[in-house]
Amino acid sequence: SSSNNNLHIVILSSPEAGHIIPVLLLAHRLADQHGVRSTVLLATNGESSPESTLVSPPRKRELVEVISLPPVDTSNLVGPSTKVVTQMCLMMREAVPLVRSAISAMDRCPDAIIVVHFGTESLRIAAEFGMRKYVYCTSTAWFLALSVYCPILDEEIQGQYVDEPGHLKIPGCKPVRPEDVVDMMLDRNDQQYREYLRIGKEITLCDGILVNSSEDLEAKTLQAFRENEAMKSALKSPVYPIGPLTRPVEPTGLKRELMDWLDKQPNQSVLFVSFGSGGVLSAEQTTELAWGLELSRQRFVWVIRPPKKGHVNDSFFPVSNDGPEDDYFPEGFLNRTESIGILVPSWGRPVEILAHKAVGGFLSHCGWNSTLESITSGVPMVAWPLYAEQRLNATMLVEELGVALRPESLPTKILVGREEIQKMVRTLLEHKDGQAIRDRARELKTSATNCLKEGGSSHASMCKFLSDIEAKCHA
Ligand code: UDP
Repeated sequence: SSSNNNLHIVILSSPEAGHIIPVLLLAHRLADQHGVRSTVLLATNGESSPESTLVSPPRKRELVEVISLPPVDTSNLVGPSTKVVTQMCLMMREAVPLVRSAISAMDRCPDAIIVVHFGTESLRIAAEFGMRKYVYCTSTAWFLALSVYCPILDEEIQGQYVDEPGHLKIPGCKPVRPEDVVDMMLDRNDQQYREYLRIGKEITLCDGILVNSSEDLEAKTLQAFRENEAMKSALKSPVYPIGPLTRPVEPTGLKRELMDWLDKQPNQSVLFVSFGSGGVLSAEQTTELAWGLELSRQRFVWVIRPPKKGHVNDSFFPVSNDGPEDDYFPEGFLNRTESIGILVPSWGRPVEILAHKAVGGFLSHCGWNSTLESITSGVPMVAWPLYAEQRLNATMLVEELGVALRPESLPTKILVGREEIQKMVRTLLEHKDGQAIRDRARELKTSATNCLKEGGSSHASMCKFLSDIEAKCHA
């Protein structure tokens, strides 16, 4: 529809790939499918990868402008024990005046501002410019439900959530197992928990929430948002499921060598292993994983980053004190797996790899973008959650969507052993016990991609979002 082509929307992202990618995809979709102009504001800390390497431009380039805000320096606010989430929040807090100046400098004041989770403090600028204000949840509707309901859990529950004897109840939604809570809820005395509560409350003050998910993926939670009285009163604003937005496959994006190798492998025979933009395993766990892959006798492509001493699971910010160890591969591993495995150093092209017909499984940290990339490629998963909200995602993939297997123990607590790894990998790729999961992944691919087409539920939801802005602008 081209009826919204006089709108201008500003979209604010925090600096991690996991947020920048879905923000750019949203801007591109607004331009290409709806003719809507947007300006993307990227908060920067001087460390982040340039956005041009993450997502290639939309067809209607003239409708999307990307502005990097001046870097903010939070080093004087951050101590050695400051959590990554707290650092992000501090950064986005410092960026509020930069967002204001960037908007003031625009030739045409935007009709609406959309912010990602960490950017909710910038919503208070909206009134100064007469803009509508929205939040873009780049994770699941279930995560969104937990975020807005956490301030209520905070009053109902004493003590740490992880010590609760039973599941945490979220009205109308799948209950949350205490060990699955998001990292921000692990320690109620930590600043990141206070930031999480604040964000949960700020989300409810906006005019609506976009979520990178769909009716197919999360029917129950989305229904709770519309119909459950307790959930509606916690949430306050309408939710628009507009996903799954994932990067398009670009045939030229991959190194020829890897492509040639994949071309020679049988269909659905290769396991892709990647822990996202921030995931790093311990050296000990890397060794077990290497053994597990070798013992499984399956083919693999492994995007590997040097392990860190101890459990450093979210390496978004540079850690200077412990250097990489180089003895994490079992002796002779590289030689023995030379013909069946490919190692990709640090940064790969997951979308192209997952789309290749030779790839039959994805061992993933379950970041939501990676998960959507797997789902839209029809690839079943081994769910290996590490940090943030990934345990929730893993539970949903295994228990609700039926497209994944996962280790018995949480990888973050206990070492996952080579025997368990080799068994999971074999089940996923070839054993009959994995057939249902493989079939389900293929089915889900079709429905998950159909909802974005004209007439599909996510397409309709985006149209509704745009007409809601317009109605308010002309009111
Ligand atoms: N990504 C990539 N190359 C890599 C690792 C990750 O392009 O080597 C992309 C990945 O495809 C996904 C995003 O970075 O789109 C990571 O987002 P996700 O939500 O999966 O997890 P996060 O990294 O934020 O934990």
